[in-house]
Amino acid sequence: MAGECEMRKIEMLGVDSQRFRELAKSRMPTGAGLADNIYARAFRTGRLDARAEGASEANARAWEESFDVGLLELVDRADDLGSEGTTTKLVFAVRDGHRIESVSIPMHGGNRTLCISSQIGCARGCAFCETGRGGLERNLAASEIVGQVLSASLALGVRFRNIVFMGMGEPLDNLAEVAQAIAVLRDRRAFSYSIERMTVCTSGDAAGIRALAALGLKRLNLSVSLNAARDELRSSLMPVNRSTPLASLAAALADYPSRRNFVLVVNYCLLPGLNDSREDARAIAGFCSAVGRSLVNLIPYNPGSEPIAPSPTESEIGRFIGLLEAEGVPVRRRAGKGGAVMAACGQLGGRGQGMDAERPALDQPCI
Ligand code: SF4
Repeated sequence: MAGECEMRKIEMLGVDSQRFRELAKSRMPTGAGLADNIYARAFRTGRLDARAEGASEANARAWEESFDVGLLELVDRADDLGSEGTTTKLVFAVRDGHRIESVSIPMHGGNRTLCISSQIGCARGCAFCETGRGGLERNLAASEIVGQVLSASLALGVRFRNIVFMGMGEPLDNLAEVAQAIAVLRDRRAFSYSIERMTVCTSGDAAGIRALAALGLKRLNLSVSLNAARDELRSSLMPVNRSTPLASLAAALADYPSRRNFVLVVNYCLLPGLNDSREDARAIAGFCSAVGRSLVNLIPYNPGSEPIAPSPTESEIGRFIGLLEAEGVPVRRRAGKGGAVMAACGQLGGRGQGMDAERPALDQPCI
């Protein structure tokens, strides 16, 4: 793991409790028996506090010389007060000075979802996306991915109900670190998240989807950013479609191991004049029938710093929902959350509204 080999100190947020125990045994001359308690406390408080777990002064210093929690520094935040609650974009500094973003999204019943980033920048270059505009800077380490969850939880004083890999970056392009982060998030001494509470959202690289499936995380939710169901249009909006055209994408999604009642969420950002015709609705119906049980999550476009379309009007949204329903496609409309702070889909890591970096919000991933 990056947290283990790149730094002298091991970042606790990047390792699960079993690995932490093993590392403690190999690095601590005495007192390794405190490992479980020290680990659990770090995930509750964000601090490495061996003294509070009964370590002697000398032993506590030894812990601090070998380990570091890896909490991220919150450097900015912006709130968008919507009718369904407040969407909050959080900007964190990582150790090399880069900024990454997470978005806390209100859900029904007072719960919150945290949308987290998996890369700094993104190589996928989707036309509507602020993050992709600058290309890929680097992958995030598992500790930096998990760090968003702990730092956001502590900053906002909430336990997030759902975790969605839909922030900056394509999670399947950083699968090893994303998988390690999922392991830590699930660890009962860390966050104890059930895997059904996590969703990976992909732009749709078939090889990546098959690599994720091969991990055998059968209850992990997957969602896809479709945005166009005609190859020519989708290739112009999402370059990934040139290597994974729609038929290959649908086949990979249909093979994704799902639990009973699994519903694939198909994100569709509505771009007026580009992807909202009757023909588009028919093409979506064809795609959905090929992937199995699915639900279209219709996301009104939030123009960023370089808009490719206007925001859809209420009547344009209603009309397209009607077209989808006429085709028999299950559809829900996602309320536009976070647009005022550039925390809506496709808007993280870009420019605008008082923060230097921004991009998406979500219920699901990258747009
Ligand atoms: S939408 Fe997602 S995959 Fe596409 S460029 Fe943006 S972050 Fe990357």
